[in-house]
Amino acid sequence: ASLPVGRRVVVIGGGMTAIDAAVQSKLLGAEEVTICYRRGQEHMNASEFEQDLAAANGVTIRHWLQPKRVIAAGGKVSGIELEYTAMDGDKLVGTGERLTLVADQVFKAIGQSFVPAALNGSGALLALEGGRIKVDVEGRTSLPNVWAGGDCIFGGDDLTVSAVAQGRDAAESIHRALTSNGRA
Ligand SMILES: Cc1cc2nc3c(=O)[nH]c(=O)nc-3n(C[C@H](O)[C@H](O)[C@H](O)COP(=O)(O)OP(=O)(O)OC[C@H]3O[C@@H](n4cnc5c(N)ncnc54)[C@H](O)[C@@H]3O)c2cc1C
Repeated sequence: ASLPVGRRVVVIGGGMTAIDAAVQSKLLGAEEVTICYRRGQEHMNASEFEQDLAAANGVTIRHWLQPKRVIAAGGKVSGIELEYTAMDGDKLVGTGERLTLVADQVFKAIGQSFVPAALNGSGALLALEGGRIKVDVEGRTSLPNVWAGGDCIFGGDDLTVSAVAQGRDAAESIHRALTSNGRA
């Protein structure tokens, strides 16, 4: 599938996904690409290597800006309104000062959170740690007959190779469970 790329792209976020979206947009032909991150450079989740990569590809990274409103004209994005931020003690606050960037494409790269409600049932609760699924060394969750692996588990390193290895380990564990008792 192909995704049309805008001339002026704004990416909201400060992690690896934001950098990927910005760099790829530039490589695919966007004229201006700006990453807007709501905290300072030292708080960005993206590694220094990735930040340098973005800069080397002509991506502008702006800090201390949080999105307020996407501006649309004729059913299309025409800009984004942002607010400057600052630290007030240990709390991040908006300063009230606003800025508008012209944009015809806006990407949101601010992560995801896991909502376990749909998996909780029959009295058993899916145990979480740090917002992710808690598993034992074999990948077993707190729910009977449910194993997990990959990005959704706590303590992982968010790499494809680890997700694949955890899938393999869980499959072996499931096989042992099925063959030892006659049932899982
Ligand atoms: C921008 C970016 C760059 C990355 N670069 C690298 C890299 O260079 N090297 C590397 O090793 N790793 C990289 N990663 C990490 C890597 O992509 C993940 O670690 C890996 O994909 C984890 O695999 P997973 O199967 O756990 O999850 P995913 O690959 O995220 O698969 C989960 C799947 O579940 C689906 N899903 C979610 N909820 C539901 C639901 N309720 N019902 C049905 N389906 C659902 C999702 O749509 C998705 O298809 C990168 C990640 C990102 C976002």
